[in-house]
Amino acid sequence: MYIGRFAPSPTGSLHFGSLVTAVGSYLHARQQDGRWLVRIEDLDTPRVVKGADKAILSTLHRFGMDWDGEIIYQSQRQRAYQDALDSLISQQLIYPCTCTRQRLKGKIYDGYCRNNPSTENQPYALRVKVNTPTLQFSDHLQGMIQQNMLTDIGDFIVKRKDGLFAYQLAVVVDDAEQGVTDVVRGCDLLDTTTRQLYLQQLLDYPCPKYTHLPIMMNADGLKLSKQNHAPIIDDQPVLPLLHQAITILGQNPPKDLRYESMQIFWDWAIDNWCLENVPLQAEIKV
Ligand code: GLU
Ligand code: ZN
Repeated sequence: MYIGRFAPSPTGSLHFGSLVTAVGSYLHARQQDGRWLVRIEDLDTPRVVKGADKAILSTLHRFGMDWDGEIIYQSQRQRAYQDALDSLISQQLIYPCTCTRQRLKGKIYDGYCRNNPSTENQPYALRVKVNTPTLQFSDHLQGMIQQNMLTDIGDFIVKRKDGLFAYQLAVVVDDAEQGVTDVVRGCDLLDTTTRQLYLQQLLDYPCPKYTHLPIMMNADGLKLSKQNHAPIIDDQPVLPLLHQAITILGQNPPKDLRYESMQIFWDWAIDNWCLENVPLQAEIKV
């Protein structure tokens, strides 16, 4: 049984870039008669925008993408994340890190606090020890992805200095608990996948299949986001945008499909969804 999911962060309303991701993940699930879950990733509370969750859900509904089952909110799941963390602690894989951003300078973590433990009167993050030299997986769209965990990733944070659990840990716990078999998401997250595989192995979770869809870039090669003026879709007509979304995903819908009913649109799109035609990169002019 296929179980897929769409996991938006409620930091704003859905824009065209995230709509395309939602559409791809929805079509891939529905074509395989799968379930499609929605999870609100409101873990990073300082970035959460009040009401954005409701706005995203109502947009998904307006575009005809109705989800299965209950919606999970990450902000309600501290207990589950703590249990996973405890399991890593009992395996002696976790250590506190007091390093400042200044010391790290955005570089791969050098393991300083692994070798010089001290937390006296200082705030600290928790890192997981990375002991596996390389990890690889076969992405259904992007092909074989391999990462050198020691030189490209390093010991990474599972709980932040501000006390919030890190995305890497939460996503792995949630995908496992929800029985997600297929993760279809934007390829801006491709690089995070090996960290998730690593945690899945340590926590003895099954590993889902991964498909990373192209993300929409603007003419300057930047990811579409609120900051760089992604088209707002809140009150745009539905069918022309859906038509444009599947076209960007490499599908070839008949022109007239944009004038049909939503039911006819989705029936066509689900029947004809073809992952092989999805481009690895996509660009739109905004
Ligand atoms: N919440 C993440 C985002 O909106 C997606 C996480 C995922 O799909 O794994 O970028
Ligand atoms: Zn440190």
